[in-house]
Amino acid sequence: MTKKSVLGEVREVQLAIELIELGARLQFLESEVGLSRERLIRLYKELKGVSPPKGLLPFSTDWYMTWLANIHSSMFYNMYRFMLEEAYETPLRALIKSYRLYMEQIEAHGGEVVLDFTRAYTMVRFFESDMLQLSTCSRCGGRFVAHAHDNKHGYVCVLCRPPSRAGKARAPKRVEAPADSDFASDAVLARAQPQAAVGGH
Ligand SMILES: [Zn+2]
Repeated sequence: MTKKSVLGEVREVQLAIELIELGARLQFLESEVGLSRERLIRLYKELKGVSPPKGLLPFSTDWYMTWLANIHSSMFYNMYRFMLEEAYETPLRALIKSYRLYMEQIEAHGGEVVLDFTRAYTMVRFFESDMLQLSTCSRCGGRFVAHAHDNKHGYVCVLCRPPSRAGKARAPKRVEAPADSDFASDAVLARAQPQAAVGGH
């Protein structure tokens, strides 16, 4: 084996480890990492101590619209777009970096990671296949995940329009009054604002 291909292989192994630790599933690893399925399964077992779960869960775009999921999804996706458009990362690096940043932000505020890696990745795919869009809230100016082709005019986000009684009953107590919290709206969404002027989706 040449020196170059050995280095290439080391990089692929490092990438696999990084993705497995973030919670990537086998199907995703197979598509993004240049290692055989057998090696990926071995690595997965070594790191996690269990065999990888089979297949991808069939997520629908509706999951991203529920109240708490929409806050987390919007936070992550704004960071992803920033990594892609402002930091000029490749799509895979942008995914890894923004997912890390998302987890750090949530953990720093003592919150629970609602959006797992597979859901984050699936959401990126939904955007790429034009099933989701970012809509700008007409009240706070934040950009939020919405169904594609929904009317963007007069859109009001989940933070400015608290959940209905049905939604409220399901939402955890500590996030019931999110409007003034710096947890999602102010800190992250505001930081992601500069791209609104540049990106203009
Ligand atoms: Zn809003």
